[in-house]
Amino acid sequence: MPSLGKLQQFSRVPLAHTPTPIEAMPNLSAHLGGATLYIKRDDCTGLALGGNKARQLEYHLGDALVQNADTILITGAVQSNFVRMAAAGAAKLGLACHIQLEERVTDARPEYRQSGNVLLDRILGAVIHTYPKGEDESGADNNLRKLAEELRVAGKKPYIIPLAPGHPPLGALGYVRAASEILEQLADADYRVDEIVVASGSGNTHAGLLFGLRAMGSSINVTGACVRRHRQAQLARIRARCQEIAELLEIKSPVRLQDIQLTDHFFAPGYGQLNDAARDTIHLCARLEALLLDPVYTGKSMAACIQRARDCGPDQSILFIHTGGAPGVFAYSGQLLPAGG
Ligand SMILES: *Cc1c(COP(=O)(O)O)cnc(C)c1O
Repeated sequence: MPSLGKLQQFSRVPLAHTPTPIEAMPNLSAHLGGATLYIKRDDCTGLALGGNKARQLEYHLGDALVQNADTILITGAVQSNFVRMAAAGAAKLGLACHIQLEERVTDARPEYRQSGNVLLDRILGAVIHTYPKGEDESGADNNLRKLAEELRVAGKKPYIIPLAPGHPPLGALGYVRAASEILEQLADADYRVDEIVVASGSGNTHAGLLFGLRAMGSSINVTGACVRRHRQAQLARIRARCQEIAELLEIKSPVRLQDIQLTDHFFAPGYGQLNDAARDTIHLCARLEALLLDPVYTGKSMAACIQRARDCGPDQSILFIHTGGAPGVFAYSGQLLPAGG
């Protein structure tokens, strides 16, 4: 009997519209002439424009409520979708939200600093702090702890959603849960899927999904598309995440080392930096499937999915996880249109 261990015992506050649909992508499939492509619409979770963080926040904010918190603290890139959705979740639950925005992207344009997610953060009423360094996860977390201490002294009950590894990956539980949702939908629709392609950033989505699938007895391949760091570093991270999930759920990890598949082919030049393949993919999917992909995550992960589809034969089928991020389109408006077009 497949087991998800103690999953039911974690407090979860419903925030996402689920189940999100799984749809066919007939135009893109025909265009590529390779594998049959499906898409899981986790860009349609709701919560102030949707995305994968809605499922993750159900567990983080569920825990915050159990601990009687009144103020949420979170850190991330200036155009972080996680931060925007945490601000949305906090607003919905009547909690204050302090966000710390890190300078991860150098020579950013004015729209990067003012539009997209950061505009939404302001509209959602979050208190914004800034942190000068972008590649210093534990430094960012330390600074967040300082902010939390100040709030505590002022009589608040702060709750930190941490960024650096080494904390129980509560957010990953959202994707352990999503794995069983996906398996149920595939069975109901009678879709056979050989492979899933998903963006791999913090790794909570990738590791949670992979863990959930294997724990439920599914052997579907999962390919993580690197969007935050290169393959070797990400491999170590996903491995550690799977182990942490196992500890959290108090079961033995069903994920073997060879289950962790990653590609960093579309990662360059780095986090939050658009490349030609991602830009072309954004245009292609908008025109063929009316899908809005983003410059930081799904433009790159879909580019990886398309590569897999081309490599596979027409007898194979691939499910792409759309993890959201559409507000990023506005933050990168100056770079998204091809010259002259
Ligand atoms: C955060 C994010 C990801 C990466 O998810 P992780 O769980 O951090 O790996 C992918 N796509 C979008 C749109 C995101 O906001």
